[in-house]
Amino acid sequence: MQVIESVAAFRQAYAEAEKPLGLVPTMGFLHEGHMTLVRRARAENATAAVSIFVNPTQFGPSEDFATYPRDMDSDLAKLREAGVDLVLAPPVEEVYPPGFDTYIDVGRIGERLEGEHRAGHFRGVATVVCKLLTIVRPNRAYFGQKDAQQCLVVKRLNDDLNLGSEIVICPTVRDTDGLALSSRNVYLSAVEREAALSLYGSLNLAQDLHSRGETDASSIRQRMRRLITESPLASIDYISIADADNLTELDIIDRPALISLAVRIGKTRLIDNVII
Ligand code: AMP
Repeated sequence: MQVIESVAAFRQAYAEAEKPLGLVPTMGFLHEGHMTLVRRARAENATAAVSIFVNPTQFGPSEDFATYPRDMDSDLAKLREAGVDLVLAPPVEEVYPPGFDTYIDVGRIGERLEGEHRAGHFRGVATVVCKLLTIVRPNRAYFGQKDAQQCLVVKRLNDDLNLGSEIVICPTVRDTDGLALSSRNVYLSAVEREAALSLYGSLNLAQDLHSRGETDASSIRQRMRRLITESPLASIDYISIADADNLTELDIIDRPALISLAVRIGKTRLIDNVII
């Protein structure tokens, strides 16, 4: 496994790599959610590449960029074990050298939900994904459904700018109790982790209500809200039931819908979603 820190060295490795090449972009602190993407990239491509880069431009000024969990040694051990060929782990100055001043302005799909609550987030995501897809030029790039809106933003970006990768979306990986795996789960105390189960619980409730014939979105949102706010540790950023393609909020569930939510448990902000 080659660990590469510079764009120039990656270009060299790319020239020598067998194709097709699959890329899994990550911010590191790898868990089973990431590793599922990695194993799929390994299985489907002659060369499996993973990027590890905590991208400063997608964090707001009051967010957790400085404290975001990092463990490069453990990440590299996991990737070696999974048979990854290339790891791109650039320092921030390699991705954003002095004078860097070009950003991707994502359109409507990035305005709502996460975009509304985390100003500038998708501008940072789209900029770094565009750079990674341009540097690595993967035949396939793998993303997790856990970040549903990110998947839509990346697909839009890939199509609109002709980046030429196939975007592969992989299902959300959960702990045995249903909590979606996330690098940020490490912030949760035992009591907070218990409270965090209400995210998945409320998504299950929504699916259950819908499968029993409820199509009134506001009534489902209200039931989800009630369940989550049973815990005094939880504060809701948003609960959304939206058109799964364009994220327009729905009154009546009469088409494929993305049910998504962002909830703060103590100081930790968690997101989760299901498609119905
Ligand atoms: P991150 O390191 O959080 O930027 O995540 C890197 C990639 O892994 C993204 O495409 C995420 O959507 C994906 N991912 C993170 N957590 C999970 C999960 N629990 N299940 C599936 N994919 C995930």
